[in-house]
Amino acid sequence: PVAQAPSAAKSGKDTNFKDKEKSGSVRNSNIVAAKAVADAVRTSLGPRGMDKMIQSGNGDVTITNDGATILNQMSVIHPTAKMLVELSKAQDIEAGDGTTTVVVIAGALLDAAQKLLVKGIHPTAISESFQRAATQAETILQNMATPIDLSNDEQLVKLATTSLNSKVVSQHSWLLAPMAVNAVKKVLDESRPDNVDLKAIKIIKKMGDTVEESEMIEGALIDQKTMGRGGPTRVEKAKIALIQFQLSAPKTDMENQVIISDYAQMDRALKEERQYLLDLCKQIKKSGCNVLLIQKSILRDAVSELSLHFLAKMKIMVVKDIERDDIEFYSNILGCRPIASADHMVAESLGSADLVEEISTGGDGKVIKVTGIQSSGPAVSILLRGSNKLVLEEADRSLHDALCVIRCLVKKRFLLPGGGAPEMEVACKLREKANERGGAEQYCWRAFADALELVPYTLAENAGLSPIHTVTELRRQHANGHANYGVNVRKGFVTDMKEENVVQPLLVSHNAIKQASECVRSILKIDDIV
Ligand code: ADP
Ligand code: MG
Repeated sequence: PVAQAPSAAKSGKDTNFKDKEKSGSVRNSNIVAAKAVADAVRTSLGPRGMDKMIQSGNGDVTITNDGATILNQMSVIHPTAKMLVELSKAQDIEAGDGTTTVVVIAGALLDAAQKLLVKGIHPTAISESFQRAATQAETILQNMATPIDLSNDEQLVKLATTSLNSKVVSQHSWLLAPMAVNAVKKVLDESRPDNVDLKAIKIIKKMGDTVEESEMIEGALIDQKTMGRGGPTRVEKAKIALIQFQLSAPKTDMENQVIISDYAQMDRALKEERQYLLDLCKQIKKSGCNVLLIQKSILRDAVSELSLHFLAKMKIMVVKDIERDDIEFYSNILGCRPIASADHMVAESLGSADLVEEISTGGDGKVIKVTGIQSSGPAVSILLRGSNKLVLEEADRSLHDALCVIRCLVKKRFLLPGGGAPEMEVACKLREKANERGGAEQYCWRAFADALELVPYTLAENAGLSPIHTVTELRRQHANGHANYGVNVRKGFVTDMKEENVVQPLLVSHNAIKQASECVRSILKIDDIV
């Protein structure tokens, strides 16, 4: 780079020549930066992978094994390194799992591309060959996948368990895996059979106890306290209203002011306010409501002290600060309609439940539990426990991964063996196919195939096995037609992963290879950073 600074200033014939050199070095430095990111997460791949402790600028500490989380919290500056962060995010959105794998594959493909560039193959040729190889890889994966029946719970639990294997909370997978399966099954929408709305699964995190005490609630949970003021904290035969209007004195418009000049006027104003609030509360009471959920309000107080006092006297339980984003969830699960104005307070809009009560979750943690809901929609709540914040947060992320894995299966009902088996199978088949190709294409396909072997290599390395030994043995098994063989990190050698119950959704592996190669192709196409 030092030698290039003056060359940019030079004009004339040889700038063209120098520019070419420059694009080469820009490409090289891009690849180096992106590879550094991939190397950083490589050690956390797989069930024996290491966790990362990340300290953010404000001193918050996160312990995690999730690729997307690690990358998201790392402060990455180089623009191409940022592309890998985005890559991991994209995988997280699309599949939810395989966020480390996708970055490891991208790193390996970049390494391969770098070597091909040194050989003198043009970046465009590499990029196009990689695209064809990736398309071929998708076919190979599809061919080795086995269809799955969604009613086979046992199989689904195995899939969720594989995803949880690599997490800090893996010892709790016996509890979390079935929980994830049950939750997704509950929110499965018959009318849209190929997608799952994970927003319908609300995970409420409460510190205290251990992860083992976590439970899926038959009913709904609201992460709030009741307002108290002498109002009830336990209501049987509840009629629940979810309101979006405020129970406080209306504010004047921006420019207007109310000027009060004597006591009589002041008295009148206060009386007016009192009457206004009392009318609202009466209207609420009249509808039969005895549990009132109030949407969070920004512009003015959602509920004033005076109205709380009225509501407490009317024996109505009040819960405020329901987030706007949660309105749909609660109206769904509680079977009530959100009410936008007091005039629309009618009995038909209310949800009914046998019991609403505030329960203590240890310390000063409280949560509101609604059970015996009469017309509950497709939504569930999960109460997640953990003895400290770090464990609790990671349990949440891990459960999210497991939920995503099940969602992947709903989207695409095929499964693959885990433990690096799909990557090795693709590598072997691609190498065979490469023989049918000529010229640079053959080189590129081989390089692509070799790069994929980094996944089983890393799994073995992280498990403390001899990576070369394991990968060559695995390659031999796949060449002999044992497509389900993978790295068995528990036994320390290569076995049939399906028999070991290590299985993962097709969508995760499929998407990882596709997105990684697309990301590498776009990095190859960059010849300058301006
Ligand atoms: P990612 O963020 O990419 O999901 P993980 O750390 O979860 O990364 O590791 C996933 C990899 O670990 C997959 O290749 C999966 O097949 C493999 N894996 C999971 N459980 C096992 C196991 N018991 N034995 C071998 N490999 C496993
Ligand atoms: Mg995973």
